[in-house]
Amino acid sequence: MTTTLIEAAYILEGFRGDEPILHRDAALVVVDGKVAEIGDKASLEIRYPDAKRIGNGRTAVVPGFVNAHHHVGLTPLQLGSLDHSLELWFATRLGLRSVDLYLDTLYSAFEMIASGVTTVQHLHSRAPGGYDGLMAASRSVLGAYRDIGMRASFSMAFRDQNRLVYEDDQAFLKRLPEDVRPALAEYFAEFGNTLDEQAAVFETLFEECRDENRLAVQLGPSNLHWLSDRALARAADLSERYQAPMHVHVLETAYQKEYAHKRAGASAVRVLADHGLLNERLTVGHGVWVTSADIEACAEAGVCLCHNCSSNFRLKSGIAPVNRFVEKGVRVAIGIDEAGINDDRDMLQEMRMVLRAHREPGIDAPSPTSANVLRMATEHGAATTPFGESIGRLTPGSNADLVLFDWDAVTYPYQSLDIAFEEVLVQRAKATSVRTVMIAGEIVYENGGFTKVDRDAVLAEIAAQLARPDTGKDQARKALSAAVLPHVKAFYRDNYRLPPRSPHYKMNDQG
Ligand SMILES: [Zn+2]
Repeated sequence: MTTTLIEAAYILEGFRGDEPILHRDAALVVVDGKVAEIGDKASLEIRYPDAKRIGNGRTAVVPGFVNAHHHVGLTPLQLGSLDHSLELWFATRLGLRSVDLYLDTLYSAFEMIASGVTTVQHLHSRAPGGYDGLMAASRSVLGAYRDIGMRASFSMAFRDQNRLVYEDDQAFLKRLPEDVRPALAEYFAEFGNTLDEQAAVFETLFEECRDENRLAVQLGPSNLHWLSDRALARAADLSERYQAPMHVHVLETAYQKEYAHKRAGASAVRVLADHGLLNERLTVGHGVWVTSADIEACAEAGVCLCHNCSSNFRLKSGIAPVNRFVEKGVRVAIGIDEAGINDDRDMLQEMRMVLRAHREPGIDAPSPTSANVLRMATEHGAATTPFGESIGRLTPGSNADLVLFDWDAVTYPYQSLDIAFEEVLVQRAKATSVRTVMIAGEIVYENGGFTKVDRDAVLAEIAAQLARPDTGKDQARKALSAAVLPHVKAFYRDNYRLPPRSPHYKMNDQG
């Protein structure tokens, strides 16, 4: 039995509604990976005399954060793609260098853990090679999280159509000059995994991770345009049979809104409902272009929203109506996605983005509070994973996934005590003041170093692997990306309307 006693000036246990449950000058005891109790330090020291001691009178302890939407390690920008509208980004990303998946996963895990993330919702977008290829990719990613000690909810994307634009692959190929077609057809074939293969991958991984404490598998039906009606039904069926949560990109862009109407004459949320996916196991990723009726339907069905604030800014998706979701009682989680505002995975930074981006003008206009944002990053993020209520809070019995901040470092050289703890934490805490990160009772990060993986060696290996010149295949992919880009642009210009302007970009010439 391993026991740890954490002394702290502040312990944020969780929330009662939106009210933080805060313990002052207290201690938290961890026994065998779980929170045993929170209480008076002196009496806990007597009752647990052999416990390992960490923390001190200037420590703040909070539940570990959940990054509820994550795909890759090295960012598209690092690998050669500028930010574009999402629809063009799919094309520019065709030309990116491939990176060893194990190292790639560790790369972003370093950034996440260092900013207090203890659980990641890893949505793996694609892998070539049928069942074997998908399994190998999944095991590389899961192996990296296992080695670094991070809690992860993993899904391999479920998708069976429209691999580059919002129309059938064969139809799009016909739009291309004849000399470009073979290379894109080859790319489509490489990623043409069947639904049966994808379902088998989910089922195998689900069983493999069933007894793992820190790893779990869920479903990632990727987005309406990527899923045929058959695929939607298959995902709904698997989710029902395995009681597995699902995370779907929904209405990330205005083009996706129009796509749903072209396809089904209805909102994407309505289409998901019609195929049996709108239930308490579903998380809507992005949800930027929803209607009021969509939000009502999500609230009624107990769906979660995952808000990817930075990504929505960077990929010109727009601003999600987060305050409207909150007003209707939808649980909102936070995801950093592939395009964090600093091109990294700093959860503290992302929380501040969410705090600032939805401050509607007007004295009585709604805006998220720091407590709202903290709850999004912990309890609500947890709700989007198979771990549910076992993480995201520090009530006795919960998994001991927690972060120790050096409160002096957060508040130095001065912080008025009139400002509440959660306000100071969300508005001022930086990754540099994270002292210790514990996951399932195990310290995985301490004083800037990882305890289970050699970060310097991993980064050196990534640098060495990517220092090599482009291979012939790399060059061919870059050429393909450049060749298809104008045709992708033309496809949307010819077939889709320009997104309507939001109030943020209109002039105020009247009144
Ligand atoms: Zn995404």
